[in-house]
Amino acid sequence: SYSDLLKSTDGFAAENLVGSGSFGSVYKGALSDERTTVAVKVLNLQQQGASKSFLDECNALKNVRHRNLVKIMNVCSTVDRRGNEFKAIVFEFMPNGSLEDWLHHQDRARRLSLAQRLNIAIDVAAALEYLHHHCETPIAHCDLKPSNILLDQDLTARVGDFGLASFLFDGNQPLLSVSLKGSIGYIPPEYGQRGRVTVMGDVYSFGILILEMFTGKRPTDEMFKDDLSIHQFVAVALARGHVIDVVDASMLVDEEMINGGGDDDDDGCGREEEKG
Ligand code: ADP
Repeated sequence: SYSDLLKSTDGFAAENLVGSGSFGSVYKGALSDERTTVAVKVLNLQQQGASKSFLDECNALKNVRHRNLVKIMNVCSTVDRRGNEFKAIVFEFMPNGSLEDWLHHQDRARRLSLAQRLNIAIDVAAALEYLHHHCETPIAHCDLKPSNILLDQDLTARVGDFGLASFLFDGNQPLLSVSLKGSIGYIPPEYGQRGRVTVMGDVYSFGILILEMFTGKRPTDEMFKDDLSIHQFVAVALARGHVIDVVDASMLVDEEMINGGGDDDDDGCGREEEKG
């Protein structure tokens, strides 16, 4: 039950805080069976009037399941010891944290190999393909970025927070200033023109993700798009046909670069992948 959940997370004690982001703070907790570890995201939306429809939508998202999506276990609206109401979403816990940590935090002793990066890219592509093409109603993620990509025990990537960001666009809040913390560089240009993000916007964000994953540079960095090896890498991934369904190559590289990259195919990524 959720009162058990609250007890086991000690009223959301600071030592259980695993991170915070666009929607609120995330705590590590356990269900009352004491075997299931969960991540509890306490929404900071109550001041912004998180509506019943938001919770209904989160509940509906429980049925959206795929091996590359973080499982939503439940959604609750409850009251803490001080009588404050809060809303929380309970996710399965991802023991290896987010891709953001793996890409950028120096203290992360382990480093991802090229083969592991490619596998993560393929996992994310599979998650997007499922959301866009295999759900009853297509779901646009709208906030794809490394901190929303979580890694499970064996480093399989699972996309989190799917279908939630679109709620924040529906209100009157300006997306750029309020809702999507840390998303600069991932927001598709059409948002500036039309004020909305669609499934095609996810494709753009996926392209940026690929570049960030393989250059190690953030989209806000100066040299982000000037790295030739990444263009070759993307060409290899595309050529394998794994990613072609969801990525529009023209957004990432021009035709000439893909064709021109053919001779130089032997850049190490192919061999790495075969070994893996
Ligand atoms: P953002 O809005 O920046 O994507 P989130 O609020 O989704 O951030 O999550 C903040 C941090 O909490 C993540 O970067 C990750 O480290 C951690 N986190 C989120 N969900 C989970 C989960 N299911 N399991 C483990 N850690 C998680």
